[in-house]
Amino acid sequence: MTPEIYGNDAALRLIRTMAASGRLPHACLLWGEAGTGRKTIAHYLAMAALCTGPHPPCGTCPSCRKLLHGSHPDLTVVEHSGKKNGFSVETVRHVCKDAIVAPNDGACKVYLFADCDYMDVRAQNTLLKLTEEPPPHVRLLFTAAHPEAFLETMRSRMMSIPIRQCTREECRTALTTQHGYAPAEAARAAEACGGSIGRALAWLADEGMQTLTGHAAALTDAAADGTLYEMLRILAGYEKDRQSAAALLRLLDLQVRDALVMQYGQTDLAGCDRESAAHLSKTLTAGRAEQMHDAIREAQEALLASVSVRLVLSALGGRLCMISEKGRGYVSASGGRI
Ligand SMILES: [Zn+2]
Repeated sequence: MTPEIYGNDAALRLIRTMAASGRLPHACLLWGEAGTGRKTIAHYLAMAALCTGPHPPCGTCPSCRKLLHGSHPDLTVVEHSGKKNGFSVETVRHVCKDAIVAPNDGACKVYLFADCDYMDVRAQNTLLKLTEEPPPHVRLLFTAAHPEAFLETMRSRMMSIPIRQCTREECRTALTTQHGYAPAEAARAAEACGGSIGRALAWLADEGMQTLTGHAAALTDAAADGTLYEMLRILAGYEKDRQSAAALLRLLDLQVRDALVMQYGQTDLAGCDRESAAHLSKTLTAGRAEQMHDAIREAQEALLASVSVRLVLSALGGRLCMISEKGRGYVSASGGRI
C-alpha cells in the first residue's frame, strides 16, 4: 500500500502520470509552506521513480517496500550541514561524486534535499552542473517554501510543483486515521493550525502552543467586546516572556486579518480560531482593522527594541480597547480617554 496522502491530489496525479510514461524529471522542486506535506510527497515521488511494479508507485513491489521501511539504498536524504540549516559545499561535493556511481538496486538514484530555504549561493553553484547535466540514472528532489529560494540558473533546470495546504477537513482525517488522535482533539488541532498537518502535529505535542492559541482567541473576543480588563488580564500573563508575547501578537494579528477577510466572504483563513475571528468580524471596519494591525505591529517593533514587555502590552491593551467600537463607547460615556 502506498501511504495515504491528504490533499494535493493534482500533484500526486501528475507524479503518477509522469511515472507511468517514464517521464519523471531529473530535477524537481516541491514548494509550499512548511507543514503542507512537501517531504511526504517528495518520498512519494522517490517511490514512483524507484518502483518496479506496473503502476508506479505500487507500494507493494520490493523497491516500494524498502522505501516504506526507510531502507532503500538508492534514496539518499541529504543531511543539513554548515550554517543556518543549509548545505555545506563539502556535503554537496560529496553528493556530486556519489551521483556518478551507478545505482545499487534500482534503475536510478534519488537524492532528496529537503527544506532548501537556506541553501546558500556557493552550495547551489556547486550543485549546478549536476542539476544541468545529471547522469541518466540521477533524480534530484528539492523542497522549499518558495521557488525564489533557488538561483534562476537552478530554477530553470527543475520542474516546479506547488504543494498546497490541506483543508481543515483533510487535516482532521489525517490526524485521526494516520496519527491516531481522537476526533475532538484532531478537530481542535486542525482548526488552530488552519489545516496544516505538520503544524497541527507540533501543536498537539506542545501544550504551550495550545495555551497560546487559546489566549489569542480570548484576546480576539476581548478586542471585539472592547473589554479592557479582560485584555489586560490575558496580556499580563506574558509580561515576563518577551518571546511568547511576540508569538501571541503574531497570532492576534492573523485573527484581525481573518476577521476582515470574512467580511468579504473569503474562506482562506490563516488564524488560529475561526469563532472569535467571526465575532470580531461583526463589528470590524476596514479602517479599524488597519488601526489594530498598526497597533500590533508597533507593539511588535517595541518588543524587538527591548522596551519593557509590561509597558508594551499594557499600552497595546489600551489602544486595542480604544479602537474597538464598544471600547470607544465605553470610554466616551465615562467622559475621558484612556
Ligand atoms: Zn512499487
